[in-house]
Amino acid sequence: MTAVPVPRWVRQPVSYDRPLLVHVNTTSTGGGVAELLHRLIPAQNDDGTAVGWAVVSGNPEFFALTKTLHHLLHGKGDPTPLAGVDAGTLYRSVLRPQGLWLAGQLREGDTVALHDPQTLGMAPMLAARGIRVVWHCHIGTTDRSATKPDYVWRFLAPEFDDVDVVLATRPEFGPPRFARRRHVVAPAIDPDSPKNRPLTAAEVDALLGGIGLVGPAAGDDLSATLDQVGPVPPNAPIVLQVSRWDPLKDMIGVLRCLPGLPQDVHLVLAGPDPYEVTDDPEGVVVLAEVRAAYRDLPEPERRRVHLVNLSMRDPERNALLINALQRRADVVLQKSLEEGFGLTVTEAMHKYRPVVASAVGGLALQVVDGETGLLVDPTDYAGVAAAVRRLLVDRDLCRRLGAQAAAEVARRYHISRLVADYRQVVRQLQTGEEVFS
Ligand code: UDP
Repeated sequence: MTAVPVPRWVRQPVSYDRPLLVHVNTTSTGGGVAELLHRLIPAQNDDGTAVGWAVVSGNPEFFALTKTLHHLLHGKGDPTPLAGVDAGTLYRSVLRPQGLWLAGQLREGDTVALHDPQTLGMAPMLAARGIRVVWHCHIGTTDRSATKPDYVWRFLAPEFDDVDVVLATRPEFGPPRFARRRHVVAPAIDPDSPKNRPLTAAEVDALLGGIGLVGPAAGDDLSATLDQVGPVPPNAPIVLQVSRWDPLKDMIGVLRCLPGLPQDVHLVLAGPDPYEVTDDPEGVVVLAEVRAAYRDLPEPERRRVHLVNLSMRDPERNALLINALQRRADVVLQKSLEEGFGLTVTEAMHKYRPVVASAVGGLALQVVDGETGLLVDPTDYAGVAAAVRRLLVDRDLCRRLGAQAAAEVARRYHISRLVADYRQVVRQLQTGEEVFS
């Protein structure tokens, strides 16, 4: 195995007089946790917390293993790679030195929030130094008959002895037998971020024209690579799905819904360049599969599909492009087979978009069917297409759903709520008080 480097500071915390809070995850770009931390950490800093962010390193074998843990927590995938001692040895040999390194940077009484299973193996080294450990679990399944998460709970059982508090997006997520504190804490978005701030119609046109998705000329903006026959015609309805190239997002299933959509509808599937998302080894393969499925479409259908592969190298540009795509979309679809939360849907709801989302996990938490969007069975392609068609013809329904969705996001999923949740958790850990309401 190659040598494992130390974690990388995305933001090194500074404080001489206050305890520190350090978030730890596995990537600073690509995916919902990175997105969340980019907005949460400055907001916590403004709130008076001395906060930092470290990203752990790993080799491809480690990230293949942690992707297995990810899928199993979603109730999917194959548990075989967890069998035997090798998996445990690999997991702990990557995280142990990084836990020791981080513990050496911090003091007794500081708090570390370890995000998702990829980082939990650092808990023992931190706890041994008197550092409080929060495990923040963003993924899981609401299918109570799912048994695959049990493999993960058994695999990670030693680490839970050193966790002080579990935060989970839904009550069903997280270890079933955790004796200490646990709280339900949903993710949130920042309406003032480049991803979510208002854009004028001209800005939307310029951004999408720049990458060649709309407009007459081929774009000169290299922040996206497109697979398309030609640009989306002016005024053509757009159905959009944004997600990592991950099998559970089911981009190929979205392509299969196309025959059920009206002939003028264009389907835009957008995701981050998988070569730039280092903790997700499946992305390259899934994007290749989506491209192959796209090439196999009959010509008339292929003309109506646009694959948008977005570079993350310039994060602000990337965020503005997602913002523009979501604002230009007539319907935003999230046809995931499982979903921890689905910030892409929160972002669309904030922008008054009508959404069609799978009735799974965090999507079913956010979308109230017929009130803030439409919920569908992701395996029922005809049903998904019917929900999209309903929205495309009923503009009054779209306006009502969009307005209620935006109000719901402002009420429940604003970044200030997440800052307050964390403030309470950290205070509780430091004082022992039952302050969390
Ligand atoms: N995203 C992005 N750039 C891209 C594609 C996606 O910033 O090119 C963002 C997207 O806007 C959302 C996040 O990645 O904020 C995905 O989070 P979500 O909770 O939907 O899914 P996850 O990737 O965590 O499973």
